[in-house]
Amino acid sequence: MALKIIESCVNCWACLPLCPSEAIYEAKPHFLIDPKKCTECEGAHADPQCATICPIEGAILDALGEPINPPGSLTGIPPERMEQAMAELRAH
Ligand code: SF4
Ligand code: SF4
Repeated sequence: MALKIIESCVNCWACLPLCPSEAIYEAKPHFLIDPKKCTECEGAHADPQCATICPIEGAILDALGEPINPPGSLTGIPPERMEQAMAELRAH
């Protein structure tokens, strides 16, 4: 089982030094996780360290393809309110 970094990653480097398995590597266009190395931090930490520090909602997926930090989970702003706010901003 392994986590996956997807294209919304902003290459901030925060996750790379925290990985106990050295599974994260710099790549183009964004950082990646080597699925052969990722242990989901089992045995080393209670939570996946990359997802714990990642500042971008939805950038890291679990083994089922679900975002570990889904939209709204870090900002506290429900996705529907965010959409409404963005629509209002665009209207002005
Ligand atoms: S879940 Fe843990 S082992 Fe897997 S890439 Fe993230 S920090 Fe590394
Ligand atoms: S912490 Fe998140 S945004 Fe930063 S490099 Fe890692 S996956 Fe990308």
